[in-house]
Amino acid sequence: MRKLYKNGKIYVEKDLFVDSILIDNGKIERIGKVDDLINLAYDELIDLGGSTVLPGLNDSHLHISMIGYAMNSPNLTLARSIEDVIQIGKDFLGNNPGLESLQGRGWNQDYFIIGDKRLPNRYDLDKISVDIPIVFDRICGHVAVGNSKALEILSIDSNTIVDGGEIILDANGIPTGVFNENAVRLIQSAIPEKSKELRKKEFVMAMKYALSQGLTSVQSCDVMGKDYKLVFETINELFKDNELKFRYTHQFNFQDINDFKDYLKTENNNSVYDEQFFSKGALKLFKDGSLGARTAHLKNEYNDAKGEYGVQALSDEQLQELCDLATASNIQVVTHAIGDAAIESVINAYEKTMIDGKNSLRHGIVHNQITSLEQLKRIVKLSIPVMYQPIFLDYDNKIIIDRVGEELAATSYAFNTLYRLGAPVSLGTDAPVEDCNPFANIYCAVNRKGLDGTPKDGYFPEENMSVTDAIDAYTIGSAYNEFKEDFKGRLKPGYVADFIILDRDIFTIDPMEIKDIKVLETIVAGNSVYKV
Ligand SMILES: [Zn+2]
Repeated sequence: MRKLYKNGKIYVEKDLFVDSILIDNGKIERIGKVDDLINLAYDELIDLGGSTVLPGLNDSHLHISMIGYAMNSPNLTLARSIEDVIQIGKDFLGNNPGLESLQGRGWNQDYFIIGDKRLPNRYDLDKISVDIPIVFDRICGHVAVGNSKALEILSIDSNTIVDGGEIILDANGIPTGVFNENAVRLIQSAIPEKSKELRKKEFVMAMKYALSQGLTSVQSCDVMGKDYKLVFETINELFKDNELKFRYTHQFNFQDINDFKDYLKTENNNSVYDEQFFSKGALKLFKDGSLGARTAHLKNEYNDAKGEYGVQALSDEQLQELCDLATASNIQVVTHAIGDAAIESVINAYEKTMIDGKNSLRHGIVHNQITSLEQLKRIVKLSIPVMYQPIFLDYDNKIIIDRVGEELAATSYAFNTLYRLGAPVSLGTDAPVEDCNPFANIYCAVNRKGLDGTPKDGYFPEENMSVTDAIDAYTIGSAYNEFKEDFKGRLKPGYVADFIILDRDIFTIDPMEIKDIKVLETIVAGNSVYKV
């Protein structure tokens, strides 16, 4: 099927647009002026009506399965008090009678405006139910709270210890039901494992939403430890059944070297994989936690919590061992690092695994939030890909200075500096930590303001990215991150025909309006997969 799209404003690269594009068999054959293409053979002629067309956007780090699960569970992002958390849980149980467990995510104590701003605890959740296990994750995923039933099922008491995580105790040494970092996995294990059918249903729900937002490629961390076989199986089956409508690259998380070794031994790579559409990508590691939860690992104590430095989800030695084994196995590593101490440690670990100082496996850093200029320069020198989430500024711009002080804040979330210095920068949302809507994300990259428009002049506006740079980072930059920059991320002959048609011109509208852009149509491999 040869299709000729004409009369568009089609973005090719900085300062270069064409009006027409000819696609054949899922690939771009020619681009240019309509007069030059109209005489070529085609089966269908489509008038873009002057619309702006971008390459399909590629989220370089998110969690598709978790987006689906969030869509299919109590929405705690709406909670403005502990009472709300309880009520939302009760309502969900009321509307879904017979549930044998309850899991939810999205609460954030910083958004509590009525009553205490404290974290919810087991006794709060016991008000929802004492008969079934309940686990509610904080929005960041680095803190979770379980009810008494969940603790009872797992026999958690004051003596339970988790490496790289904390089980918070009250003054009497009794677990409060609050868990952080690696201990989050423990309390989550009180919830019975999901069936493959439910996993597929949630995955497809999230995929459809992502396509409607203009994402044609995702680098998704859906494997979180021991259930990896089931996750691989689930997504493989969707792929084989032709239900995978976007390009998907696995990121897979193993914090424990033995789990990773087990994976290397048992995962025999004979499942259906196709490099262009569906592939295995990087080992995803967590070095620290989140800034909101004060578990990001800092070099100096928290400005607003004396004596606290955050949490190390992996020690430097554990991180090194995992990086060395991945490198020896020819596997790329991407590591979650938010605090400057965590980032430094990740740079050091990567540098040690590199041969002749070359980062040939493109080991990367996810988040890279609290940085010094010196660290940014090392990242550039070692050519370490950075996966940024500008949308984090929507919330973080209100807390960064409190957490780390003005001086360090000035060189943190340094999107523009790092891009200008020449590091491989890509963009993503870490959804469901934030919504996967790429236009809200680009808005934050370009304006460095919250979605409410504050602060008025932008948060350290010298770090604003240009619209073009942000789009490039979201397309060809993200493709680089997965070794796919030679066939996707640009609308040029030979590249795959993945593109989106917008309802307004992102290049000329008021940058404050970028967050309101809607996608009219999403095309993957020449096929329409979403249309308003
Ligand atoms: Zn993540």
